[in-house]
Amino acid sequence: MRYRPFGPTGVQVAVIGQGTWNMEKDDRRSAITALRRGLDAGMNHIDTAELYGDGHVEEMVGEAIAGRRKEVFLVSKVMEQNASRHGTLKACEKSLRRLGTDHLDVYLLHWPSSHPLAGTFAAFEELREAGKILAWGVSNFDEDQLEAALEIAGEGKIACNQVLYHLGERSIEHAVIPFCEEHGVAVVAYSPLGSGGFPAPRSRRGRMLAEIAATHAATPHQVALAALVRRPSCFAIPKAADPEHAAANAAAGDLDLTGDEIRRIDAAFPRGPRQPGVPTL
Ligand code: NAP
Repeated sequence: MRYRPFGPTGVQVAVIGQGTWNMEKDDRRSAITALRRGLDAGMNHIDTAELYGDGHVEEMVGEAIAGRRKEVFLVSKVMEQNASRHGTLKACEKSLRRLGTDHLDVYLLHWPSSHPLAGTFAAFEELREAGKILAWGVSNFDEDQLEAALEIAGEGKIACNQVLYHLGERSIEHAVIPFCEEHGVAVVAYSPLGSGGFPAPRSRRGRMLAEIAATHAATPHQVALAALVRRPSCFAIPKAADPEHAAANAAAGDLDLTGDEIRRIDAAFPRGPRQPGVPTL
């Protein structure tokens, strides 16, 4: 597994981490085993949210990381409707309780919210000063929203922007990634396997990924993940409730693609025109 500094936090974080959205619908034992298998294989970044399963997924994560908190780079999110100054403080306490920990590594604003950003960020700073979170960031922000956020927060405060990014949806490469790189904000790719929309094995794109995978004794999914984290600002958080998937995703963190392979992937999955706003599922 390769590690790199996570934005301004400087913490060494695995390039491939673990998502948890919808895990409440999976077999609980399998999902918890998968998260632990992922940790065993070095995927220290676990991403969750108060939204997921209405808190149940945070409880599952709490069970998975019990006794192993120090190994984990733990990220959770406050829902936009809870992100007033007071609401953020309250939501964080509840997440900590469900996760069975006294601190988060990073706390994110899940979506741009109607609550003033200054209030949300003031709450984040209050939580940071109290040691309840070590850093904070945002999710689903486009470059204009990021710029406004940086004006309020100041440089070096926003740890990451978590955004939709997979081979079939590359529009953040136009402006969001360059903006994040210019300002030292980590980019976390959510739904990096297309959230169930991965290219079918017999499709043109699926066959091309399989050909590249074969030369590395890898899988098409591993090739896709490796392609997404080739820039030094980028991390990916595939969700796996199947322990075999978790192990495979971790191995993608060691996969190096050649320049030629990257060019083939770029040709098959063009980034398309620049779109206004940030893409979402
Ligand atoms: P995803 O990670 O793109 O895809 C998950 C699907 O891929 C699951 O069906 C999983 O199966 C399967 N899978 C995982 N590893 C595999 C492998 N090696 N080979 C074959 N199949 C594999 O989808 P996602 O859950 O939408 O996104 C990942 C994470 O991003 C979420 O879980 C969440 O933490 C985060 N997210 C954040 C936001 C946001 O607004 N900030 C939005 C969406 C997602 P199994 O589960 O059966 O293993």
